[in-house]
Amino acid sequence: MNNNNHIILKNQQFSGFDEKIEGIIFEIILKHIKDLIYVMKVEENKTFSYVFLNEEAKGHARLTNNSLGKTLHDVLPPETADHLHEQYISVLEKREPVSFQDIVILSDKRVVHGESILTPIFGENGNVLFIVSVTRDISARVADKEMITYMAYHDQLTGLPNRSSLKRDLDSAVEEAQMNSQNLALMFIDLDRFKFFNDTMGHVAGDHLLKEVGKRLSSISQQGYKVFRQGGDEFIVILPNTSREISQTFAQNVNKAFTNPFVLENKEFFISASIGISLYPEDGRDGNTLIKNADTALYRAKELGRSLYHFYSADLQKHSSHLMQLETGLRKAVEKNELEIYYQPQMDLGTNKVTSFEALLRWRHPVLGFVSPAEFIPVAEDTGLILSIGEWIIHKVCRNLKQWNESGYGPVSIGINLSPKQFQQPELVTIIEQNIKQNQIYPGCLEFELTEGAMQDPKRTMETLAKLKDIGVRISVDDFGTGYSSLSYIKKLPIDTLKIDQSFVKDVLHDEKDAAITTTIIHLAQSLGLSVIAEGVEEEQQVEFFKIMGCHKVQGYFFSKPLPENEMVEHYFKNK
Ligand code: C2E
Ligand code: MG
Ligand code: MG
Repeated sequence: MNNNNHIILKNQQFSGFDEKIEGIIFEIILKHIKDLIYVMKVEENKTFSYVFLNEEAKGHARLTNNSLGKTLHDVLPPETADHLHEQYISVLEKREPVSFQDIVILSDKRVVHGESILTPIFGENGNVLFIVSVTRDISARVADKEMITYMAYHDQLTGLPNRSSLKRDLDSAVEEAQMNSQNLALMFIDLDRFKFFNDTMGHVAGDHLLKEVGKRLSSISQQGYKVFRQGGDEFIVILPNTSREISQTFAQNVNKAFTNPFVLENKEFFISASIGISLYPEDGRDGNTLIKNADTALYRAKELGRSLYHFYSADLQKHSSHLMQLETGLRKAVEKNELEIYYQPQMDLGTNKVTSFEALLRWRHPVLGFVSPAEFIPVAEDTGLILSIGEWIIHKVCRNLKQWNESGYGPVSIGINLSPKQFQQPELVTIIEQNIKQNQIYPGCLEFELTEGAMQDPKRTMETLAKLKDIGVRISVDDFGTGYSSLSYIKKLPIDTLKIDQSFVKDVLHDEKDAAITTTIIHLAQSLGLSVIAEGVEEEQQVEFFKIMGCHKVQGYFFSKPLPENEMVEHYFKNK
């Protein structure tokens, strides 16, 4: 090699790829390679002294050209030297290459992860004469690996440990609880109406909210708990070494953490969370069971109202599997012809005639037998099945009306119950309109029953009701008096009928307050020009009471229970 960094081979060096050329090439490699390369001589007293350092190695720590001939302990800080000495000794003992990873401090004080391979070189007598050490900076690899591990175990959005993390940590938390005979609580936390928030505010706002929720859940004043994001708007907390009382306090604090509004784009939003809690060991001895049971408890908390916590109990299990059975059955009920419509007559107290009926759904479950609509309608609501079932009811009632018309019966009007979800369904008006047209029925024959709960949103309620009135159908408020509608609200809406809830009718003869409420509703209806029906009338004296008070119609067991269509036709049309 010459001084100008040019490598010039003399003629005689072209005789082949011999040791000389090899030497030159290795020199180049050693000079430019980024690995730290040292060659150590094994001294008689089993110390190791530097005999060669490549350029990169000279950068390391205190090593310079002056280090040549000196031992590890001469050059390096005692601890580092001790550590390396051990590794070199192990090469002597094993008589084969040894590799290890450690922290290496470079000349520029950068601390890097190094991976070293020490390879022995043997003399003719079989003794190790030299050891070649090659150290590679693997910091990038280590960092990548750490990043990948971090990402695998953390949720990107909230930075909280994720589901994989939960699996790992929960198993070890359960093991620890078992070893120390302690209780452990698992809390399943789910935001209330998050889907609605996300749909109306957009995903960016939704993401922002989830991040904030993560922060609030992470800063509850209690030590030693861990929060995980299970996915979506679901979070899980592991509370080790706890008791029912402590976890109850914790759950209350979680609920409290949601009392302050969340601020997004200068607007305030109130979001609440529901919590299901399971305890180790009584509610489950392994992670999966604890999660499953906390989920069941959460479901119950939601059912009871939102922003609540609920502990798991074995009864819940029965409750939820019953619900599951209803849900699965309900999905097939329509196609398996298990649903039927019954009609309950409404007696007109002015004419003593029956000209209207309420359509009430009946379900004959093949195993459970008769299931009350009070039980399955909420399931149908929750699962969205109410939309297809509701459509089926409208279709069926309209078909019946057409058949009765063709048979020369009637005229009658039929009340059809609309559940809140159905009422909010954008296609509702079109569906009703189409069925009316197809069956050529007079729109005034249909009266749709809505509860006050279905009319929460004034603007939308007004719009939908206006469209329904345009078609010409009638509207009644069902279970009137049990909701919270304001009187001015009732005045503004295009309503035809108020149905007095049966809870007021039941004791109307014995309870002065019930009597006062029903009388007030009747007067209200009269002054607003609305028709009024009392529901759940079971006794003759009740009929008398409503007649005297000027109530238009009564409906109840006193006159008739809801009847299957053929019986209703037989009794009210043919034998009229
Ligand atoms: P609702 O609309 O208030 O219906 C009146 C309920 O009172 C009916 O219960 C009826 O059978 C019952 N009833 C009638 N007369 C008497 C009586 O004299 N005494 C007593 N104790 N009860 C009486 P049902 O059929 O079990 O329905 C319960 C609820 O389920 C209904 O309350 C309604 O909210 C809902 N529902 C029923 N059918 C449908 C439907 O087709 N669609 C929707 N969305 N909901 C329905
Ligand atoms: Mg009704
Ligand atoms: Mg009712």
